[in-house]
Amino acid sequence: METAPAQPHVLIFPLPLQGPVNSMFKLAELLCLSNIHVTFLVTQHIHSRLVRFTDVESRFKRYPGFRLETISDGLPEDHPRGDKFMELFDSLKVNTKPLFKKLLMSDGRKISCVIADGIMGFTGDVALEIGVPFIYVRTISACCLWLFFCLPKLIQSGELPFDGDDLDTPIKSVAGTEDFLRRRDLPSFCRSGDLSHPNIQLYKSECEENPRAYGLILNTFDDLEGPILAQLRKFCPNLYTIGPLHTHLKMKLAGDMASSAPAISSNSLWKEDMSCIAWLDSQPEKSVIYVSFGSLALMTKDQLLEFWYGLVNSKCRFLWVIRPDAVAGENEVPADLKEGTKERGYIVEWAPQEEVLAHKSVGGFLTHSGWNSTLESVIEGVPMICWPYFMDQQVNSRFVSEAWKLGLDMKDTCDRVIVEKMVKDLMVDRKDEFSKSADQMAMLGKKCLGEGGSSYCNLERLIHDIKSM
Ligand code: UDP
Repeated sequence: METAPAQPHVLIFPLPLQGPVNSMFKLAELLCLSNIHVTFLVTQHIHSRLVRFTDVESRFKRYPGFRLETISDGLPEDHPRGDKFMELFDSLKVNTKPLFKKLLMSDGRKISCVIADGIMGFTGDVALEIGVPFIYVRTISACCLWLFFCLPKLIQSGELPFDGDDLDTPIKSVAGTEDFLRRRDLPSFCRSGDLSHPNIQLYKSECEENPRAYGLILNTFDDLEGPILAQLRKFCPNLYTIGPLHTHLKMKLAGDMASSAPAISSNSLWKEDMSCIAWLDSQPEKSVIYVSFGSLALMTKDQLLEFWYGLVNSKCRFLWVIRPDAVAGENEVPADLKEGTKERGYIVEWAPQEEVLAHKSVGGFLTHSGWNSTLESVIEGVPMICWPYFMDQQVNSRFVSEAWKLGLDMKDTCDRVIVEKMVKDLMVDRKDEFSKSADQMAMLGKKCLGEGGSSYCNLERLIHDIKSM
């Protein structure tokens, strides 16, 4: 007869991309701090980058119940993965699923709960088959998740498909967003004019199966997305809104007197260039706009130049992350551009972003509106200019500008004059207005994380639920 496990033991499996890996590591550490054993499962590809660029293995040594495990994503090493997300996704479904099942069945320390990214519904199939409870994590915003849940309604009402025309047409069948959502604010794949588009099918079907999970963990907080969370609860009543995870962890570590770990951990899949912190140290308070488009967004050389001219002409100081693979056809930042930046700007290939956004010299963020970046900015009270690239980013940027009034939305344009105008608006002309609303939201976020706040209590509830499984 099998004996009950001495310690609750969860298996955490993030979607193998920078954003989800980042936030689910924070979740893993929060659970470790509550004496829950964690097996953290990453693809071999992600593992090779983690050991190259981070201190993850030594960092987790302080948690005896933590172990890092790897699994194949079934793709050749030189596959571009993030750039060809659907290929990665299909391979995970076909090749990783049987390996995942084998691992789950053979694990010596019995798994009491699987916590996986809810976009990987195959993890739920396996957990159900084996009889292990599972909880999904959605690492996108609740507002975008809600939109995915509404895809059938959008199709039924005839609002989908459309073919990229009349992008300012209002969208009416997404409850809670009737006043401000337009076609152009729907995830980019909605513009294809084709209902059989693989992304529409994928997000529709994955959402349909999400309610099978015991609950949904969301990296958000109630004061930010309350009205949308109320809509989502109609489909998934058991929501654990415990974000922003990175600040939640920071606060727990600060309160954990026994902790010798640094407050900020890095899970970067690129080498962080710390020299930008010294550069920021020498800049006046709130004078710098931080510019970064995350780990996946690509731009053309023309777009790079429009941003560059716009930033330089704004006469504001800027810190700009340009990944070596960010500009199509270029392997590095053109030398003349780097040279011409020196007066007021600083360019790095990858920054310690959480630290940058928390720095006193940073007063604005020109972002692609990835959900992690958005939350990291919100909790530090940094107003944003949004240049969404794809997927959930189109939705997030509309919420930032219209629902939360935390900045400006520059989607679908890339013009030096507009960049210059928006940077000046955010950093100079409308600075007080945006700073005020950003400070207010940051304060609400911190309140949610403090003792008795919604994120704090929801984490306690999650831990309690896992322990009683
Ligand atoms: N990030 C970072 N350094 C950089 C740029 C990004 O550490 O120079 C981190 C950032 O803090 C965030 C993640 O990479 O946690 C990007 O996730 P997000 O969801 O914003 O966008 P994605 O990369 O998935 O498009």
